Amino acid sequence: MNNIISVLLVYIQIQSKIIIYLMCSVLSKHSLRKYYDEPVNKPYRKLVVDDMPVIKTLEKLDYKQIIADHLKATGKALAPVKRRKPSTIPETMTCPRCNATHEYLYDNTGGRGQYLCKVCECTFNKKNYYLKNLLFCCPHCGKALTLQKQRKDFNIHKCKNSKCSYYLNKLNSMSAEEKHRYEANPHDFKLHYIYREFNIDFEPLSNKASKSNTVNLSRLYVSPHTLGLILTYNVNFGMSSRQTAALMREVHGINISHQSVLNYADAVARNVKPFIDNYKYDLTDSICGDETYIKVNSKWHYIFFIIDSIKKTIISYPVSPRRDTKTAIKALDSALSKFDSIPEDLTLIFDGNPIYLLAQHFFAQHGIHFDVKQVIGLSNDDPVSEEYRALKQIIERLNRTFKRNYKPTNGFNSFDGSVSFLTLFVAYFNFLRPHSSLEGKVPVVLNELSSLPNMPARWQKLISMSQEYIKTQQIA
Ligand SMILES: [Zn+2]
Ligand SMILES: [Zn+2]
Repeated sequence: MNNIISVLLVYIQIQSKIIIYLMCSVLSKHSLRKYYDEPVNKPYRKLVVDDMPVIKTLEKLDYKQIIADHLKATGKALAPVKRRKPSTIPETMTCPRCNATHEYLYDNTGGRGQYLCKVCECTFNKKNYYLKNLLFCCPHCGKALTLQKQRKDFNIHKCKNSKCSYYLNKLNSMSAEEKHRYEANPHDFKLHYIYREFNIDFEPLSNKASKSNTVNLSRLYVSPHTLGLILTYNVNFGMSSRQTAALMREVHGINISHQSVLNYADAVARNVKPFIDNYKYDLTDSICGDETYIKVNSKWHYIFFIIDSIKKTIISYPVSPRRDTKTAIKALDSALSKFDSIPEDLTLIFDGNPIYLLAQHFFAQHGIHFDVKQVIGLSNDDPVSEEYRALKQIIERLNRTFKRNYKPTNGFNSFDGSVSFLTLFVAYFNFLRPHSSLEGKVPVVLNELSSLPNMPARWQKLISMSQEYIKTQQIA
């Protein structure tokens, strides 16, 4: 009897495992995916970004001149460094700023690569870090910052001045309990002013004209009017490629596959991209940005939308697998390069993500200045959020419009596919989509388009204008 029960129990266990397996595989394909595949609002990494440092450009100096001036002024010669231990400084090393020889250099970090010149008092790094001749000073006490750490994309500079007001304020505002924890784990606390200097290989505003591998549209097996119809359904009305193909077949009697719809859209995107990316937009000094999510190869990717909040023009839309400072820099660069000259009180409005402040500091390092305002959270808890929330809502509306169009796609199979989709969306948003807050006008009015009777005709015209643009670029 016992034997039968235990055999039956094992049998039941096996059956229940099979049931769970089957339920999982059925649900994960359909309903589970529906529920869990919604773009989730992933929190960004919280990080304290301090104010911008004071950036000084170092002029080149001559150590012989400084030594001679010193002698004249004080009557004493500036002697080489007196060392108690044998020198760790290579004899070939000279000060990058004043050329002082190794006798005048201090090893600041005991062989870890930072040096101080006795003659001109500059600190420098082994890797000739000061080739750029920039000196970062603490905005609170004015002292030069010390290079603390070198990471892949950035260097961390720290104000080590123990009398710095930033440091003293942080120290004094700690509770007795916090001070206790600080003594045990000083690395858990950030008391010193810190600056992250991004040194990614990227020249801002180099204005590399957007080029794309154009496809010869005359090779497509559809008439220009049919192409215009396909784009109208697929882009303007946000229909999926399958719906578009079905509509073309059942309403217009034109037999095309959904893959052809995707191919046509991709070919058009490559043709219009240079035109919409290099178009001389008429912009204001009110710009805002936000990130949104899409799936590429079933992984979340980020789009960094930047829009002129008054003209309602999208001026930047890079896609990236990462939500990082590097992409924020590229997004801002694409937006800033749309300006002939950067307006004096240019204000950019973003959410509380620190990457935009870090990007702002990167541009300041290159002499490009603008203001960044952060609208944080959903309620107006601070005056900045209150003042700029209305502008932020403009980009949130753009995100909603985008998501309506994105949803039927179910994500993209390739990175290029996502770029093509976005390019067409931006072409539509900037040039073809009437905007209620612009009295029903499109953000960028092209007379060539507005005189045309319908949308397929406007798409055709936009494509031919883009092709004309590519031709003029090739001649130039
Ligand atoms: Zn020097
Ligand atoms: Zn300081």
